[in-house]
Amino acid sequence: MVKFSIGFIALLVSLFISNYLTVKHQPVSHPKNALAMAAEPDSIEPVTPASSQVADALEQSFCAPQICGEAGWQQWIIVTPGDSWQTDELILLRDILTTVIDALDQQGLDGRSLLSGYRFQRQQGEYIIGHPGRVAVVNHTTQEITLADASFKRLRGFYIFHELGHVIDWRTERQLSTAFHIMVGSDQTQSATADGYWLNQAAEHDLEEAVADAFALWIMSNYGGDYRPVFAHTPVTTDYEGITRTFSTSLKQMALPQ
Ligand SMILES: [Zn+2]
Repeated sequence: MVKFSIGFIALLVSLFISNYLTVKHQPVSHPKNALAMAAEPDSIEPVTPASSQVADALEQSFCAPQICGEAGWQQWIIVTPGDSWQTDELILLRDILTTVIDALDQQGLDGRSLLSGYRFQRQQGEYIIGHPGRVAVVNHTTQEITLADASFKRLRGFYIFHELGHVIDWRTERQLSTAFHIMVGSDQTQSATADGYWLNQAAEHDLEEAVADAFALWIMSNYGGDYRPVFAHTPVTTDYEGITRTFSTSLKQMALPQ
């Protein structure tokens, strides 16, 4: 009887803990009620990379001068025991961050401050668990961007740029998406992106998705070798030049966060 009770209580406790952990760490793409300007993490927990190659890549290859300050790679990368970071992924991520920060700086913005506080974690598998078909997800509450295998393999990292576009929009309290959709004439009450101004079907009825895609297109076409991604449902009428031109104007209009 005593053994049964202790076992039963242990079961309840473990169920409670696993439920809590699941909820706490489940990535959420667009929590509408989250603060746009969540505080940066106070402290960064010590971590041990799973392999010595990853440790070497983090120490020697990741920190380009533009992206790492005194806090080192830990300010950008979450390493958990047994995760699957690869050296070439860390280098791609470094190049993406460097490109984004340089591009924003060239627009008169403080690129590193706009992104600072968000960190990347690696999830094994083609897609993000709990988000069928998604290869990258940002959670603005925990300030974590979760990347699955396909985010590194597809469209030259477009999906990673896309999530950084969400970060910039949130950090500026959606001034970016508001300016963009006013200019192109989207139906903001119906969350319908104007015809010709969306790339991926998810953006047709989601204004923030359209702007995160516009950011990725703008940066990859201007700073990444004039790359133009085409998705399964991209309309033939999509105006790539119009999207990048409008995005560029939205960025220029955007005031720095207070
Ligand atoms: Zn998105």
